[in-house]
Amino acid sequence: PNSITVDVAIIGAGPSGAIAASLLHQQGKRVLVIEKQYFPRFSIGESLLPCCMQFIEEAGMLEALNAAGFQHKNGAAFRRNGTYTTFDFTDKFTPGPGTTFQVQRASFDKLLADTAQSQGVEIRYGETVEAIDLTENPRLTVRNETGELYQIDAKFVLDASGFGRVLPRLLDLESPSCLPSRSAIFTHVEDNISDPSFDRNKILISVHPEHKDIWYWLIPFSHGRCSLGVVARPELLAHLEGTLEQQLLQMISEEPTLKVLLANAKVVQECATLKGYSANVSRLATDKFALLGNAGEFLDPVFSSGVTIAMQSASMAAKCLTKQLNGETVDWQADYSAPLMQGVNTFRTYVQAWYDGRFQEVIFYENPNHRIKQMISSILAGYAWDTNNPFVKDSERRLNMVVELCKNNTPIPELEEG
Ligand code: FAD
Repeated sequence: PNSITVDVAIIGAGPSGAIAASLLHQQGKRVLVIEKQYFPRFSIGESLLPCCMQFIEEAGMLEALNAAGFQHKNGAAFRRNGTYTTFDFTDKFTPGPGTTFQVQRASFDKLLADTAQSQGVEIRYGETVEAIDLTENPRLTVRNETGELYQIDAKFVLDASGFGRVLPRLLDLESPSCLPSRSAIFTHVEDNISDPSFDRNKILISVHPEHKDIWYWLIPFSHGRCSLGVVARPELLAHLEGTLEQQLLQMISEEPTLKVLLANAKVVQECATLKGYSANVSRLATDKFALLGNAGEFLDPVFSSGVTIAMQSASMAAKCLTKQLNGETVDWQADYSAPLMQGVNTFRTYVQAWYDGRFQEVIFYENPNHRIKQMISSILAGYAWDTNNPFVKDSERRLNMVVELCKNNTPIPELEEG
């Protein structure tokens, strides 16, 4: 047949699509996921935040994930020139999981999608959503594996297409990013790190010794490998010559500690680059569609918030959609977009302050107040929607206050909370 009817059509089977599909299926909704590629497939975004474990659990996928043998993660480490500092995600203000994993996304995404499938979700691989008609109920046009077109009639569409940004493109929802364009060059290495003090349970973020807005990620995996990447404004990479691999290695050699740490590392995957990945949209949802994860807003990779935002949006959208499909009224702006953006905007505050240097002053401050550190640790662990945390609720003002205290080396007073 060249037309099929479902409750919910989901574009993309990455983390946001798989979690949303599972949650809606649990509520007895008929969902169909259309995925352009075949899994396993490479994706960037390998360091998770503990907050996202809640959504994996909600979707009934925690057991499968815990059994998969991924690298344990309990925090983040930062290095700038001689200063090294860590955030322990189990020591935080907001209740909830304090550990997670660092994952090769090819296997991780396949595990989530396969688990959703084993729960009963239908996923069609090798098929691409090409058009949408919203005149009445949403109607998608899909190109199948053999190149033929067919239609899906749905009561609602979730766009979980990530950087594919299918609905923003088809419905002209794209708006310019609020962040300047940056580039990333990255690969996987067989790291051969022999330094016993290297903490494999944390992502390591290193700052370039001269340019504070250039930074590197080193994300240890299990089995002696790491993901390695550098992020910079394109003009600061323009002097680099040669292949992408030579360019990445040149940048690594400019950061003395990384250079030593990775002296015996071997590149085991073709280097890749992504540019201008930050994106905004003019609206996130109506009563016919919602954008999840990266298909909506994408900020910046520095705090590894991408997969957490993707799963948070999937969980929030699934709850709204279940209500709507059960005949209740949903105000998608008030019930989905606004609460989702609350957390996204919290991350945005810290991302902007990372690049202009303010947040780095706090991160590298030598004599932190423990309670404030716990509040910041919560945000770095992904709990950016917890409005009990003063650094969430009033992020810009609170951050600026602490920045001033750090600058003047003033002892930091106790905060009133709530
Ligand atoms: P995706 O995982 O991108 O999945 C979308 C799926 O949709 C894909 O499988 C695609 O094939 C499919 N699709 C696309 N178009 C169509 C179509 N027309 N029809 C059907 N299917 C389609 N996040 C973190 O959490 N931690 C990190 O450490 C991190 N590091 C990052 C580093 C860089 C340099 C960048 C750029 C991003 C990073 N991110 C990180 C962000 C992370 O990559 C994304 O936020 C995350 O993958 C989003 O998940 P998603 O489910 O929204 O989309």
